[in-house]
Amino acid sequence: MKKTLIFLSLLLLTACSTTPTEPTAIPVDIEATALSVAQTSVAQTQVAIPTETATPIPTATEVPVFLEAIVWAEDARVPIINYHQFAPNTSENSTDHKIRMEDFVAGLDQLNQAGFTLIHLEDWIKGDLSVPVGRKPLVFTMDDLFYNNQIRLDENGEPRDDTGMYLAWEYGQAHPEFGYKWSLFANLGDKWYAEGDEAGKWKDDLAATIIWCIEHDARVYNHSYTHARFDKSSGEGIHWELEQNDLFLRQLLLNAGREDLIPDLGNMFAIPFGYWPQGSAYNAMVNYITPEGDPMLAVFDIDWIINGIKFMAPPYSPEFDPMRVPRIAMPPEAVEYLVAHQDEFPTPKSCQVGPLEEDRAGDQSYVEEQIQAQITSGACPKGVYILEGYTFDAR
Ligand SMILES: [Zn+2]
Repeated sequence: MKKTLIFLSLLLLTACSTTPTEPTAIPVDIEATALSVAQTSVAQTQVAIPTETATPIPTATEVPVFLEAIVWAEDARVPIINYHQFAPNTSENSTDHKIRMEDFVAGLDQLNQAGFTLIHLEDWIKGDLSVPVGRKPLVFTMDDLFYNNQIRLDENGEPRDDTGMYLAWEYGQAHPEFGYKWSLFANLGDKWYAEGDEAGKWKDDLAATIIWCIEHDARVYNHSYTHARFDKSSGEGIHWELEQNDLFLRQLLLNAGREDLIPDLGNMFAIPFGYWPQGSAYNAMVNYITPEGDPMLAVFDIDWIINGIKFMAPPYSPEFDPMRVPRIAMPPEAVEYLVAHQDEFPTPKSCQVGPLEEDRAGDQSYVEEQIQAQITSGACPKGVYILEGYTFDAR
């Protein structure tokens, strides 16, 4: 899924008439923020210009290729903050379940200032470990959707400004370096939406809201149909809870004429209350398959900082358990912790690998050799390389 996420572009430095010699590799300052293709090309050209003698014209097969890699020299630690509902600013305090709107926005800004950038949880788990160089990955999740104070659309189909998701959206638009990416864990069977049941109109409103979310980087996942206690459920009961939520979500999209969105729905689940099932009930949970046949990708826990703060490890790490991914409760405390400890969160470096022989740039083992050569020469650091959608462990 999300096939469009080819996040590394091929850097094709095409030789042209103003480039008299075949460009040679220029060491890239790995501390610098990512060089753009254009900057690199200019640098190469300027270096090459002093050669005034007649020079060979590169043939088509000699076009050098550079690939820009994201390099995790240190293992990433990704905090996953879990939000619930929102309270008006007239409320006295933020709580774990209802954060005051002002406190919420202040937290977004503090996290942004501390260098965090939102990433998609599902993409990370599937191996896309990209985040802008110099930034630290952060995940926002929200549970118990869909409540009016979380998100609701106005008559123009835009989020109303008295909803939390609107504030996050507005902030993300104004601060693209922070962005707007959410994983929403919904219970679709335990409440009506919007103004209640006007002849079932709430389902249309809910469908429209879900569609807006999916189309705006707030992906919708499973939190059980009725917010059930999984520690007290049978395997059959758990299967029903997961499946019923999925079926209702698909029905809403179908009724709204948006079945095109169904193939991209994932299979991730956040445990209600953080109460874990055992034995066959546990097996029913982790072995649940969506109507489209997608196996369970990940199950998310929830815990308090007081019990020891935990972060998501990279999926290649032995510490990473997709069936028990930690999330942090109580957002205001979590923000405070992350701001105070911001220097403890690694950020990736960028490094250009090349020049590569163009016709071999898609050959993984060849690219791996080139990475090793780059490391040996000191041009690139040791680490886990994310390159052309592949992960190369070069630690
Ligand atoms: Zn919940």
